[in-house]
Amino acid sequence: MKLKYKRVLLKLSGESLIGEKQFGISPKMLVHYAKQVKQLVDLGVEIAIVIGGGNIFRGLQAEESGIERVQGDYMGMLATCINGMALQSAMEAHGIFTRLISAIEMQEIAEPYIRRRAIRHLEKGRVVIFSAGTGSPYFTTDSAAALRANEIGADVILKGTRVDGIYSADPELDPTAERFTKVSFAKVISLGLKVMDMTAFTLCRENDLPIIVFNIGDDTNLKRIVQGEEVGTLVEG
Ligand code: UDP
Repeated sequence: MKLKYKRVLLKLSGESLIGEKQFGISPKMLVHYAKQVKQLVDLGVEIAIVIGGGNIFRGLQAEESGIERVQGDYMGMLATCINGMALQSAMEAHGIFTRLISAIEMQEIAEPYIRRRAIRHLEKGRVVIFSAGTGSPYFTTDSAAALRANEIGADVILKGTRVDGIYSADPELDPTAERFTKVSFAKVISLGLKVMDMTAFTLCRENDLPIIVFNIGDDTNLKRIVQGEEVGTLVEG
């Protein structure tokens, strides 16, 4: 079968793991993602995942608790490792070979990030889960997604969200909002649309790395995207 995208970087937010729960990790969502990733593995797509941590902890919320920002950011990065471990277990239970990589060294549970080794895993058909973001405070896991996608030579960043693409206004607030099927980087900026934070967005723009924003809730979407169907919104050019 002809694939439009052979190597993809999937960005999953921490919040997308909450599912029907109030916080934390929903076992249902883990199974949902594992099944979708399995579909891509079976097609022969190489998949790297950057997992967020917002369902457990965000650096910005630390200050409210009297914790300094940088400490909070490290707590947020550790949260992504917890999510990554959960995702790894769920995927292995579905017969997917995985490697968990952490940008902060913790060798008992995750490999350190070594670019060539990560690429080798992908070539061997293993799903690579990148955790601990960039390993540096003041960044986000969207920035980690943009950075790693460029480093491993991904064809595209697939940003799974609750909505089915990028709209002219917030579709959850404005019923007249229209969805773009394709939009340029320049237009995203001129219209003030939200795709990723500016650091992440700029890294993609400067390196001509396309981003597809799509609804991760629909379990056919990922498969359709890699096969070249127009799903969600494509940001490029
Ligand atoms: N974080 C960080 N550096 C990074 C990535 C993440 O400091 O490179 C921290 C930051 O505090 C962030 C938290 O980890 O709030 C969780 O990541 P993020 O908010 O990106 O998760 P998501 O919104 O995708 O669930």
